[in-house]
Amino acid sequence: MQSFYSEQQKILQQTAREFSIAELAPKAHEIDEKELFPIDQFKGLANLGLTGLTLDSEFGGSGGEYVDMMVVIEEIASVCGSTSTILITHVSLGSQTISRFGNFDQKTKWLPLLSTGKKIAAFSLSEPQNGSDALGLNTKISKHDTNSYLLNGSKIFTTNGEVADVFVVFCTSDKEAGYKGISALIVDKNTKGLSVIPQHGKLGMRGSSTAEIIFDNCIIPVENRIKDEGDGYSIALQILDSSRIMIAAQCVGLAQGAMNAALDYSKQRRTFNKPISQHQSISFMLADMATELDAARLMTWRAAKRHDEGLTYSKEAAMAKLFSSEVCGRVVDKALQIHGGTGYFKPSIVERMYRDQRVTEIYEGTSEIQRLVISRAILK
Ligand SMILES: Cc1cc2nc3c(=O)[nH]c(=O)nc-3n(C[C@H](O)[C@H](O)[C@H](O)COP(=O)(O)OP(=O)(O)OC[C@H]3O[C@@H](n4cnc5c(N)ncnc54)[C@H](O)[C@@H]3O)c2cc1C
Repeated sequence: MQSFYSEQQKILQQTAREFSIAELAPKAHEIDEKELFPIDQFKGLANLGLTGLTLDSEFGGSGGEYVDMMVVIEEIASVCGSTSTILITHVSLGSQTISRFGNFDQKTKWLPLLSTGKKIAAFSLSEPQNGSDALGLNTKISKHDTNSYLLNGSKIFTTNGEVADVFVVFCTSDKEAGYKGISALIVDKNTKGLSVIPQHGKLGMRGSSTAEIIFDNCIIPVENRIKDEGDGYSIALQILDSSRIMIAAQCVGLAQGAMNAALDYSKQRRTFNKPISQHQSISFMLADMATELDAARLMTWRAAKRHDEGLTYSKEAAMAKLFSSEVCGRVVDKALQIHGGTGYFKPSIVERMYRDQRVTEIYEGTSEIQRLVISRAILK
């Protein structure tokens, strides 16, 4: 238990840990192997109120702070990376956009369903030609009539895409206007002209669904627009800033899971008449892993705490995501090394975590984009 967590957060941590061990761990290998969305586990998270964590409690959300969410994500990721990706996308990207920026009617319609996990949210920003460069969106809206837009275009890599009931979609009404032309829409999956094409074959996080979403002359009511026309870019950046804290927490969790496995294995595996933990090269690896992991957790906690205290946190969130994802890479690599040949084979947890880690340096802004955010902040 971390001393910087409150008593309430320690209870939340214990609840999330018990659920993860009992409900997620037994399925983690299978959902990875077969690329299965863990719907029963998602419902289990909903029963604990975790699908509504940080969401506006006046509209059915569970409330709570980002440090609370960090605690939960860390526990889940330490056992099952895929489930943590699903929850982060549902809560911190899709639902949080509606919770933070939606109007009364939008929140009334969607938040009770999303918070209770009866509906699943996704966040569709990336396109085939634009990932890091979100300004270059090609998905287009034009006026259909006074009450609706026509939405055309396609999105790729949408997490939860196959199972989502609602998509927060970023699109442009005027490409020439740059960020001023970008808007955010709430799009129901049952919208005529919307189709979902699953994207299979991921290296890791294979239990999380990823899909291409096609919009072919979809008619979207104007009332589904979040805030004003032209506000979409700012909404996307703000949501990515805060959600990055959760990716950092995910990395801390993944690294902790790999570290736990390495600690256990190093004590039981014997070579040259002693446990490998008693070979200095192994114990020093463990020392480095523990040290870096501690630093990553502290940076993540600082970013979450700044968010919760209403302070600026964009730079700290980018630093936490950059550092934690790269630390996680080093930790899972060492954990696999400590497992020797066993770690290279399924169903070893470190084999899975080694693969799951890689995308944390890519999604919600690559490491290069985090460095861009940080360097801009310090060179101001
Ligand atoms: C499993 C998975 C799930 C995802 N889920 C979602 C989701 O739910 N919703 C969503 O909208 N997107 C999602 N994404 C997309 C993800 O956010 C993008 O892949 C990411 O932002 C990078 O964009 P890109 O793949 O187009 O790479 P590119 O932007 O083409 O970048 C390619 C390379 O160039 C580098 N680069 C680009 N621009 C610069 C620059 N200015 N300076 C230095 N280097 C640069 C990048 O860092 C990278 O190394 C997901 C991706 C994956 C793999």
